[in-house]
Amino acid sequence: MIKKTMEHKIKALLLDLDGTLLELDLDLFVPALIRLLAPHFSSICGPEQFAVHLMGSVGAMIENDDPALTNEAVFFKDFCRRLNQPFDSIYPIFEQFYKKEFPRLRPWSRQRPGARPLIETARRHDLKLVLATNPLFPLAAVAHRLEWAGLSTEQFDLITTVENSHFCKPRPEYYLEIAGAIGCRPQECLMAGNDVQEDLSAARVGMATFLVEGMILHRESGEPQCTYRGSLEDLAELINKQEDR
Ligand SMILES: [Mg+2]
Repeated sequence: MIKKTMEHKIKALLLDLDGTLLELDLDLFVPALIRLLAPHFSSICGPEQFAVHLMGSVGAMIENDDPALTNEAVFFKDFCRRLNQPFDSIYPIFEQFYKKEFPRLRPWSRQRPGARPLIETARRHDLKLVLATNPLFPLAAVAHRLEWAGLSTEQFDLITTVENSHFCKPRPEYYLEIAGAIGCRPQECLMAGNDVQEDLSAARVGMATFLVEGMILHRESGEPQCTYRGSLEDLAELINKQEDR
């Protein structure tokens, strides 16, 4: 770890999911998801065209900076326009897919032994717990992945999803929206994740950051700038030490 003790007391722990609490490589997982989902749209477009439209609409969500629109609203507005289909015929396809077929993607993931003990440690120390997963998925898909990780939705005070979020990582507004929702100042929050660009950007609003090792994603050159770094076990230890002071 870069630092051994907490610089200032934190009240909330924000945790990324993929590559952090759950061993899952999005670069492999997303293509597998598209292969499973594309056949449901075969009457509208072919699999390659479907992938282009889906990723295009995901891009629209990531680009959106209008605080009046949820990520879900941005996605479906863009996706329905691309497919020239009404929302009422598109939405149920996704809803059924996430409920019934998404669980088949579980073999792409693996539990991380440090995840459960970390959540329990944070709970014991009365920290607010936020699942700060990039809100590109509906709650149904996040709930499945939490289960794969050996966790559940009830363990978190807030889970960021397409339905309740208006911004995506790495936008500072994403982190500010979380702080506002849980009633904490950014300076009272610690964001932990494996993605240097998306998770450590929480520092831009004044949050402390913890780079979780094991599946680090770093798309630029240079040493990652973070307050702390280490394993999930190191993070639990850091929280335990905070109480002693
Ligand atoms: Mg991640």
